[in-house]
Amino acid sequence: MQTDAFKKLVNRYRANNSSKLDSKVMAEKALKEIKQLALPATPIYFTLMYEVVSQIDPDLANSIQDAINTNTLNNSKAEELFIGFLTQYIYNGLPPEEVESILNTLLEEISSWLHQSKINEKILTSEITLLSQEKLPTHVAEQVNNKILPTLQNFFNANDSLKKQVEDSSLEITQLKNELQHARNEAKTDALTNIPNRRGFNEIIACMMNEADLKNTPFSIIILDIDFFKFINDEFGHLIGDSVLRYLAKQLNEETKGKDAVARIGGEEFVVLLPNTNYENAINVANNLRQKIEDNRLKVKNQNAKLKLTVSAGVATYDFNESSDELLNRADQALYKAKNSGRNKVCGAE
Ligand code: GH3
Ligand code: MG
Ligand code: MG
Repeated sequence: MQTDAFKKLVNRYRANNSSKLDSKVMAEKALKEIKQLALPATPIYFTLMYEVVSQIDPDLANSIQDAINTNTLNNSKAEELFIGFLTQYIYNGLPPEEVESILNTLLEEISSWLHQSKINEKILTSEITLLSQEKLPTHVAEQVNNKILPTLQNFFNANDSLKKQVEDSSLEITQLKNELQHARNEAKTDALTNIPNRRGFNEIIACMMNEADLKNTPFSIIILDIDFFKFINDEFGHLIGDSVLRYLAKQLNEETKGKDAVARIGGEEFVVLLPNTNYENAINVANNLRQKIEDNRLKVKNQNAKLKLTVSAGVATYDFNESSDELLNRADQALYKAKNSGRNKVCGAE
């Protein structure tokens, strides 16, 4: 299965399989971009630039282009994009839950076969012991000793090596299962902050909306966006910017509990998902978060002045008839209001 994913990946870069432009033209364009942007000419940057110029996957090309436009394409960002691309690819190349269920069935069958085979061997061994204790007519004893026992011994030996092979395969299958799980989790996790990314968020919100529908309980979300983050990057550098993102992800996780979830859905945009929480309570949670973040001044390496981090937030409560996109959109519009009314504010979509 994994080989299939890799084959598709290789196919993506076959000369005759790329989009409209021919591969030589694209390679030249990619190199020209690398030179123009003064990027290191490594295979990682080449792959990213090739993706941009070939537009094989417009979404991927856009996120790389975004990083270029916002001047954030440094080595670690390039690695993050590259790894994200590979993981996504492997994830998409793997057939979904079916594979896991097939692997599970296979493991169960192997285990039951091994079990049965051990029982059969025991029965045969004890039968033979009994037989050897019997007083048998000479020609039968000869037949047993010269024919039946050696044949059975051969059978046991062959069975032992088969069992060993089956046990090894079973280990490999378990390993494959773990790798599958790992790839699946990785595709849903943001590499920088280690919290769910947009894909992970989509899954969580669908699950929470479903639960709200079933139990008829309220459900709210908060979308938070760092204020003047571009300034933080410009002033302290992107590495500090990245640390701020990691810090905020950790802070949000620590300040929320139970079934609440936190995801990073864009560059400096986070969502806190609050199951079983009505509009008023969600506004309170958002205000608390906003206040805590404002109160914690951050010490920046090699700098005397502390960094004052603030966020703006938009809150929306699920209205039971809308899609997750509509809910997110309403929270986003509230965030827009918070930004426009001076930042470091919480606004609600009601
Ligand atoms: P506003 O208060 O209106 O939100 O202003 P802003 O500067 O935060 O917003 P803007 O959208 O102008 O800029 C967002 C910046 O976030 C631009 C980009 O450089 C930065 N950014 C996005 N992703 C990352 C990342 O992964 N790491 C770092 N260091 N910066 C990032
Ligand atoms: Mg933003
Ligand atoms: Mg911002």
